[in-house]
Amino acid sequence: MKTEQEVTPLQSGSNEVSSLLSTEAVEKIKAKETAQIAVREERRQKKSAAEKLADVLRREELRELGKQRSHEETKEFNRLEARRRRAGKSPKDNALADVLNAQEFWNANRLLLPKKKSDEYLAQQERVFDILFWMSDGWREPQAPDFVSLGEGIADLENFVSEHGVISDDPSSYKHHTLQDFVPSWGVWAERDIESDPIWGYVEPFYKDAERFKALCCESPATEIYARYGIRTALPAFHLRKFLSRIEAHKNGVHRSESNEKCWLCQFERQNRSL
Ligand SMILES: [Zn+2]
Repeated sequence: MKTEQEVTPLQSGSNEVSSLLSTEAVEKIKAKETAQIAVREERRQKKSAAEKLADVLRREELRELGKQRSHEETKEFNRLEARRRRAGKSPKDNALADVLNAQEFWNANRLLLPKKKSDEYLAQQERVFDILFWMSDGWREPQAPDFVSLGEGIADLENFVSEHGVISDDPSSYKHHTLQDFVPSWGVWAERDIESDPIWGYVEPFYKDAERFKALCCESPATEIYARYGIRTALPAFHLRKFLSRIEAHKNGVHRSESNEKCWLCQFERQNRSL
């Protein structure tokens, strides 16, 4: 572990350099150092909060396993339980009550994910981002050597979906009744507490609602990965349906004006007219 002194040598040595620098410059350097220390401290605190939360999530996961725990898992569980008792917490305390948003929850869960898995998921997420980019911007450069036509792009996309499924986020196609019945339907994936919606009042974020969280994990493997770790290993269902229905509407000549704006083909045709 480096001490703050070692990583910011200028702070201890600033007396020696001050004769070469104006007072103003020295003040600036000092202010910058102070800000850097604050940023580092904040990062350290965030990391330790994520580590603590990861311990709690792991502990509760092991608790649920009950008698199915292996010898190693029992040792791990006992260690985490001892830590809980030392902190004076009851097993019924809701560890997630103070988690501000899904990102904090994901950061903690990612600490529990083996590096190999996480690399695999992140690499697949790059593919997802490529496809999403093609869906929104792929029409832009028909002259480019790597241009992917609508036909090729859709074939690509359909292959990807048949291999990896989708992330369930489309209110019209949830499989689990808990998600079908959840109101407001736009709030299924709420990423933080929504305190005072004009119609619904309080909407609980998905990671605090155990029943909804479990239901999301049942939808598909990619949905579970996204719910647990915030990594997209498949395309989001809602976005996909919107994209394909705009293409369909375009071919049938039944666009509404607001869907023209985002239609791949409309934009492609406009672009080619102006070339
Ligand atoms: Zn169109």
